[in-house]
Amino acid sequence: MIAILLGAPGSGKGTQAKFLSAKYGLTHLATGDIFRSEIAGKTPLGIKAQSYVKAGKLVPDDLVTEMVAARLNSKEGRYLLDGFPRNLVQAQALSSILAQEKMSVNLVVLLKISQELALERIVSRRVCSQCGEVYNVQTKPALNGKCGICGGAVVLREDDFEVTARKRLMVFEDITRPMIAYYQSEFIFKEVDAGLKPDEVSAALAIFVDSIFAKS
Ligand code: ADP
Ligand code: ZN
Repeated sequence: MIAILLGAPGSGKGTQAKFLSAKYGLTHLATGDIFRSEIAGKTPLGIKAQSYVKAGKLVPDDLVTEMVAARLNSKEGRYLLDGFPRNLVQAQALSSILAQEKMSVNLVVLLKISQELALERIVSRRVCSQCGEVYNVQTKPALNGKCGICGGAVVLREDDFEVTARKRLMVFEDITRPMIAYYQSEFIFKEVDAGLKPDEVSAALAIFVDSIFAKS
């Protein structure tokens, strides 16, 4: 079972990925989260990726695909991909990785959102610098700037400054959007309105995923 969650920065991929992976028992593979933890740990991969992530640019394809390939295996078998693939080269690389492991993509969801709302959500987002828990200055503020779960400092993500956020939204429109056609076949692809409340989006996603499971 391979599910792909697509959507612009700020569309709520992380939130919905948590919901879906818990509900359907999928391993959540979030390339952005992996890069952030590699960067924080100053690993060789983190050091290579750092300048791209900070600037809101895509990390080079070979680094990303190698990292994903190392984490996908058919024994585990059930994955939710969040943040990958992001361009056509990565989509094709994913197909060949999956073919080698005798797996295939079972469903693809696009979280649809306007650029204005995405930007508004990104600049009001804050994250815990230790555990990654996501906060929002309007809808879910952190008390005294501290994480309610681990006590870590809650900060603005390095690539969430408005200029960089705008850049990431452009990258999505210019580079990721054209890739989406690759997955737009009849029944495995679904667009969901991501402008709704998080649990409304989750409910819409669950209806679609259930329908795919019923067919397979
Ligand atoms: P968002 O979707 O909100 O932009 P992510 O956490 O998915 O956030 O990604 C953050 C950053 O990590 C991206 O801007 C990019 O630099 C890097 N990144 C994540 N996934 C990929 C990918 N598949 N290919 C290239 N770079 C990636
Ligand atoms: Zn925390």
